[in-house]
Amino acid sequence: MNLTKSLTLNEDEMLLLDGKCTEENQKEINKIKEILNFGATSEFVGRALLSIKESGEFRWVSSHDMSTCLYCDNCPRGYQKYPRNGRHHRKGDSNHDKPYRYRGFTVNPAFVRFTGIAGCCPTCFGKFREEIFQKMREFDIKAQCKMHGYENEISKDEQRKCHNCKELMWTSEMRREPVMIGNGTFASECPHCKARSSTFGNSHHYTGEFRILEK
Ligand SMILES: [Zn+2]
Ligand SMILES: [Zn+2]
Ligand SMILES: [Zn+2]
Repeated sequence: MNLTKSLTLNEDEMLLLDGKCTEENQKEINKIKEILNFGATSEFVGRALLSIKESGEFRWVSSHDMSTCLYCDNCPRGYQKYPRNGRHHRKGDSNHDKPYRYRGFTVNPAFVRFTGIAGCCPTCFGKFREEIFQKMREFDIKAQCKMHGYENEISKDEQRKCHNCKELMWTSEMRREPVMIGNGTFASECPHCKARSSTFGNSHHYTGEFRILEK
């Protein structure tokens, strides 16, 4: 028989499967255990901490496309009201084409998009950010932060694979060269065979591995 079925499980249900499931599912359970272990006050903080640990980076972005904040009552879900009567609606009816939109914050957006975590409002984010930094100290999570006013002395050093000699290298060991347009430089040259990266041609691809350097 193959009675495979996709289920949505909450964390308590997932923990019942701990050590009793496939390797694939166990990976997800391990993540949940790690998040719970942080003892964070919210899912936002717990998931953010895991993303920071796994990516070696702490970044945040704000956008104006949040429909509600799940962590407070300041940003209720809803719709703008029609200001006057129309052919299909009356004054004061909800305009379902115009949901309320609030400013929201997300942490490590690429990672977070993948996990489907919702954003939070600026007030909640202010508190969560404090908690995240405090938990990073408590759990000795080292991650690069380049956000204005929060810059730290830690850098994430990405590993790459040479397109020519196939050797591995750290980005910090690669000779840099100036970008074609504008200011700045980019990591270009393989320290083993001197093969360069070009903007439109071959490049030394990130392997997904990184190390943390402390200045
Ligand atoms: Zn209408
Ligand atoms: Zn909020
Ligand atoms: Zn090389």
